[in-house]
Amino acid sequence: MEKQKFDLVIMGGGLAGLSAGVRACELGLSVALVEKGETDQYPCNSRFSGGVLHLAFQNIKDPANQLAKAISEATDHHADPELVMALSIESERCVKWLQQQGARFIRAGQVIWQQWIMAPPRPISPGMDWKGRGPDVTLRTLMETFRKKGGQVFLGCEVTDFLRDGERCMGFQATHQGQEKHFEGTATLLADGGFQANLALLKAHIAPQPHQVLQRGAGNAMGDGMRLAQSMGAATSSLDAFYGHVLCQQAFSNPKLWPYPQLDELATSGVVVNPKAQRVIDEGRGGVYIANQLAHRENPLDCHVIFDQAIWDGPGKTSRIPANPLLLSAGATVLKGDTLDELAQKMGLPAPALTQTIGHYNQAVQKQQTSELNPPRSHHKLTPMPLVKAPFYALPICAGITYTTGGLLIDSHARVLRENKVPIQGLYAAGSVVGGIEGGPNASYVGGLMKALILGILAAEDVAKTKIEPTSKTSMSFHHHEV
Ligand SMILES: Cc1cc2nc3c(=O)[nH]c(=O)nc-3n(C[C@H](O)[C@H](O)[C@H](O)COP(=O)(O)OP(=O)(O)OC[C@H]3O[C@@H](n4cnc5c(N)ncnc54)[C@H](O)[C@@H]3O)c2cc1C
Repeated sequence: MEKQKFDLVIMGGGLAGLSAGVRACELGLSVALVEKGETDQYPCNSRFSGGVLHLAFQNIKDPANQLAKAISEATDHHADPELVMALSIESERCVKWLQQQGARFIRAGQVIWQQWIMAPPRPISPGMDWKGRGPDVTLRTLMETFRKKGGQVFLGCEVTDFLRDGERCMGFQATHQGQEKHFEGTATLLADGGFQANLALLKAHIAPQPHQVLQRGAGNAMGDGMRLAQSMGAATSSLDAFYGHVLCQQAFSNPKLWPYPQLDELATSGVVVNPKAQRVIDEGRGGVYIANQLAHRENPLDCHVIFDQAIWDGPGKTSRIPANPLLLSAGATVLKGDTLDELAQKMGLPAPALTQTIGHYNQAVQKQQTSELNPPRSHHKLTPMPLVKAPFYALPICAGITYTTGGLLIDSHARVLRENKVPIQGLYAAGSVVGGIEGGPNASYVGGLMKALILGILAAEDVAKTKIEPTSKTSMSFHHHEV
């Protein structure tokens, strides 16, 4: 059996794995990056992403205390304060580092959180479009640099188990074309992107009918890293939430309807109803929350979003890749009625119940009493609109899952922790495999790309520091000053 020994072995070549790999090479470490994708443009969420670098929808260059406040508030103070500080303090430095590696960015007007979009940006069109776009170009640039700096890449190689020495992780084993290989590592980084494609884990933690939740990304993150780390005693956050969006149900059969356009703006301005024409979700808690609630349902495909002409012409046009008109150009069937009765008939829903639901809702909106509805419709984040301007519209909706937000608990050096908060020796995690930041009661989202970039870099720097000063693990100064 083949055996190779490195300072750092990395599982997964998304933004987390590649940033860690390049940074570790810069710091003089020998590094192996092991990726199960087979060709240079292997699928991963980082490559398929929209490429917008932000933290809790703030500009990544904002002062650290401002970013920390925004992340804490966005996560309902659920995020681990130590990780919030690490992300906030390191944000600007890490993005500058990415620029130094050759990543290019554009900004979208004055929108605060869209000041750092990987260039060239994806076009304003429906469906998946990643080839030659900013994230793809950035990943390829990082890969080229990694190889130039002496990093070794093993494609088509799937990590299956750890190498252990007692309680210490010593690297991993992987299979390549049926052959087993051992990658010994003084340090091991898990960067395999979450567990959203593992239907058994989705069923256990998120969705009773996991195959009825649409994969809104590469669809290849099986939770291998989390499972292996758990087998060594690693602790996880709560695993019940994900980052995703409300999508048109027809996306299951029409690939032009995912990952864009998303229907969040229509759902958060309009109402979501079940087959009895009753509201079932607090739409004011946002699109990611609605997607989570849909996924949690016994039947995740039994809801419609309803909106009127004012919502279609207003919020429907506001996102960067807007539902109006892209739903139509992508071939979605949008149900339409001049009255709610006519709409209910087309939806196959009881017309009196729908009229009553929308009537109550409109009254509550007009009297600003939406918190008294059942379920309440909160308004502190997103202003509700009455559904009064005909024609009225409806679409069957589904949850699109992009990545799971629960995962391994780590410290601010990206070291994987046990329940007692003691790090597992030699084991690090970065990117979407990490928990403790996003998720929580509102299924909060902070920003997957920044989580990958910053934690990848911090992991590499800690491994390098440990190599230089094997006994001292207390000072953070290396992280903050070394560029
Ligand atoms: C359509 C879309 C749009 C998005 N837009 C944005 C955005 O604009 N801004 C933002 O912040 N976030 C965005 N995201 C989220 C973001 O892409 C992810 O959070 C981030 O890229 C995760 O990076 P990662 O390195 O952790 O994982 P990934 O990029 O998913 O990489 C994980 C890698 O691990 C490999 N792997 C898995 N298992 C194994 C194994 N057993 N052995 C070896 N290799 C393995 C996989 O093949 C994969 O290449 C978007 C995602 C999607 C899908």
